[in-house]
Amino acid sequence: MHRVRPVCKQRKQAVFGVGNESAPWLFVGEGPGADEDEQGEPFVGQAGKLLDSMMAAVGIRRGREAYIANVVKCRPPGNRTPTLEEAAACAPFLDRQIDLIRPKLIVALGKTAAIRLLATEASLGSLRGRVHRYRDTPLIVTYHPAYLLRNLPDKAKAWEDLLFARRTLAGAPAGAIA
Ligand code: URA
Repeated sequence: MHRVRPVCKQRKQAVFGVGNESAPWLFVGEGPGADEDEQGEPFVGQAGKLLDSMMAAVGIRRGREAYIANVVKCRPPGNRTPTLEEAAACAPFLDRQIDLIRPKLIVALGKTAAIRLLATEASLGSLRGRVHRYRDTPLIVTYHPAYLLRNLPDKAKAWEDLLFARRTLAGAPAGAIA
């Protein structure tokens, strides 16, 4: 039988996360790319630069108010989307990170993070604009920065999502909260 080589055998290094381990914000991406595999830190490439500026726009600094992690900790070859099995294999790591950090709010960046944390196949568009929960932690879904680099007009929607997230974290009245 043909067996798929596990991603942990093909990576340079595991990339667990970066930031303040007591941060109120936890951003969850998909998985390390080539730059992250090289440097051992999540979101250091082009998508990372955009994530940093999106966070800065709402007053969040990497390493201060935020912790950044990924669904999978090893780079899938060719930057392909991780499989459900790969996401499940890394689930205990991400769950432990959430247990230890105890963020006030999780931001799921893109479909892979939303599927992993919400166990849903619903479209990303339909998941935006509502407060979900992962276990007991409020969770908001927005676009992945790599998607935004290819679809610049949707940056305005991501901006709305982060403002909504900031209001939610500040305990604003529910509004669009589900
Ligand atoms: N994309 C991700 O989802 N995570 C990273 O760390 C880098 C790019």
